[in-house]
Amino acid sequence: MTNHIFGRSTKGSLPVATAGDGCYLIDATGKRYLDGSGGAAVSCLGHSNAAVRAALHDQLDRVAFAHTGFFTSDPAEQLADTLVAHAPEGIERVYLVSGGSEAVEASLKLARQYFLEIGQPQRHRVIARRQSYHGNTLGALATGGNEWRRAQFAPMLVETTHISPCYEYRDRAEDESVEAYGLRVADELEAEIQRLGPDSVMAFVAEPVVGATAGAVPAVPGYLKRIREICDRHGVLLILDEVMCGMGRTGHLFACQEDGVAPDMITIAKGLGAGYQPIGALLVQGRIYDAIAKGSGFFQHGHTYMGHAMAAAAANAVLGEILNRDLLTRVREQGAKLDAKLRSSLGQHPHVGDIRGRGLFRGVELVADRTTKEPFDPARKLNARIKAEAFANGLICYPMGGTIDGQRGDHVLLAPPFIIEDSQ
Ligand code: PLP
Repeated sequence: MTNHIFGRSTKGSLPVATAGDGCYLIDATGKRYLDGSGGAAVSCLGHSNAAVRAALHDQLDRVAFAHTGFFTSDPAEQLADTLVAHAPEGIERVYLVSGGSEAVEASLKLARQYFLEIGQPQRHRVIARRQSYHGNTLGALATGGNEWRRAQFAPMLVETTHISPCYEYRDRAEDESVEAYGLRVADELEAEIQRLGPDSVMAFVAEPVVGATAGAVPAVPGYLKRIREICDRHGVLLILDEVMCGMGRTGHLFACQEDGVAPDMITIAKGLGAGYQPIGALLVQGRIYDAIAKGSGFFQHGHTYMGHAMAAAAANAVLGEILNRDLLTRVREQGAKLDAKLRSSLGQHPHVGDIRGRGLFRGVELVADRTTKEPFDPARKLNARIKAEAFANGLICYPMGGTIDGQRGDHVLLAPPFIIEDSQ
């Protein structure tokens, strides 16, 4: 093999993945790895799904690519129809892209163009939350609140303000009910909108269950409903980023369905293509699409590979598997077992502070001290050590965190394929 690839890290070398078998990845030496995190919550069907492979072969035999400036395609049309049929109320249109960051970028630009089209050109500000991740392209990175990822690019990032996340384990006061806590942190949005000037705010962006930066931290009951009310009061668009927590990961096709909230836009990716193809989507309320349709008639955005027929064919097959095999029920059942197993095996461990999540999206927060909740010293590089140790033992998990730049907590994220067996 040549040595010209420019990967994530310039240090060390990685094993070569040569095969996939259900919940396992296999490297060139024949070593098997149980994919306990689906990579980064991607491989929701495991690695050799027969239906997706057949759908890809079939589409390849028809047509692989037809530029969306000239054509639509059957798989893209079908995918949009299926997503709308199962989406929260009011979602009527689907914009297909190649991944999560692209979906978030599209949501920001569509929000801006929407307000221009309806005659509110002063709206351009975005509010998001600390300890969030919305992607690595510049607009998405500016939206995310992860200081470590943002720091070196800060001069290039458009100004975005960040309110508190909904992070019960860390922030709820002892004498505060869960509901009161949720309303208190949600009301930070009201205060921030007032501070910036309600007429200038375009959108609020949040993950319903925070993934990479916090480790499967769900919003507490009532939080997102209050957020929805505040957005409505001020005409601010609510964009929910379900790139990691969507597509059945929590046991509902869209995580926000469990919270009973219908956002103005939803971003999805990861589980949509389940790793078989790179694909993401922006789902949009009908009235936002209509404003563009009745106005300029043109969303001033686009990527060469948007609406790719092969990617859409894979996503159709993935959704077919999730819906027809009732994998959402399975996610809830296996998720409850995983949660119980984590609690019985790790719940009393002196360095386990919290176990949380929904469905097959679970996080274990590690602390130096359970009583004070003091995080580990980042110099100990705990997450890197856990990742390496697990990998050496044939388990893929997704540890993140550290106490770098105010990001509190080390955690291990688990997001196994929906087909995971009890024994695995
Ligand atoms: N949004 C969320 C919530 C994510 O977790 C991620 C990726 O981890 C992204 C956006 C970016 O997606 P991608 O890596 O496909 O660009």
